[in-house]
Amino acid sequence: MATQRPSFPVRLTPTAAAATGGRLPAAPSRPTVVTTPSMASDAIRARMVQRLAAQGIADARVLRAMGAVERHRFVDSALVNQAYEDTSLPIGLGQTISKPNVVARMIELLLGAPALVGKPNDKLGRVLEIGTGCGYQATVLSHVASEVYSIERLRGLHEKARTNLRHFRLATVHLLFGDGMVGYAKGAPYAGIIAAAGGEAVPEAWIAQLAVGGRIVAPTQSAGGGQALVVIDKTARGIERRVLEAVNFVPLKSGIA
Ligand code: SAH
Repeated sequence: MATQRPSFPVRLTPTAAAATGGRLPAAPSRPTVVTTPSMASDAIRARMVQRLAAQGIADARVLRAMGAVERHRFVDSALVNQAYEDTSLPIGLGQTISKPNVVARMIELLLGAPALVGKPNDKLGRVLEIGTGCGYQATVLSHVASEVYSIERLRGLHEKARTNLRHFRLATVHLLFGDGMVGYAKGAPYAGIIAAAGGEAVPEAWIAQLAVGGRIVAPTQSAGGGQALVVIDKTARGIERRVLEAVNFVPLKSGIA
């Protein structure tokens, strides 16, 4: 069921307040600047993209995609004003939408797949996302990949993502309900696999479903008990694995619910 969201941002301009009988004082000395809700969110998103670039995100494909996707459409109405802050936000059923800089970092890593080295303008081919959540990252991925398969184990969130994505009419995003631990063999081989939930190890099924030249980016339990981002490349020479920075993702769980 679609929920009614306030437009972005939730703020009354003096004129809007007057029109609705609100009590905001008028500001007669200042000229009235008319901004539509979408212009306001464009400007705030542009600032988010500037912050991402300042934090070290350099891939133009990633910055363009982050600038294009309206993150505020994926969060509940009470959180709309925080949609472009660098914070993770609750999306229901105990799960969270990742911080913008974590989404951008992981997609930048994904675009560093062996097959795309030296091709800064190319898109990825088919990508598999484990953990659709609210569908935000799947939507960002649709800007950098030709096809996105995204799988979610919680029916409530799978349905929520369906509702959220309806607005964008994305023919290249396929939302699947199921256990992503086993990947999704029908869409394989994948140019990239990205996990939004962290397990003890990267499942063998994901490595098997990865194309040669492809890359997996996944939070995985590290020796100390915490989590770190793991990057796995499949090349003609075999599998290469690197452990990067510490991260903090919700757990990867098996089965559906
Ligand atoms: N990418 C999401 C973030 C969702 S949080 C977004 O943009 O909103 C991670 C999600 O992974 C949760 O919704 C959780 O239910 C899901 N998840 C955990 N284990 C899973 C599994 N084995 N298969 C599919 N989804 C899983």
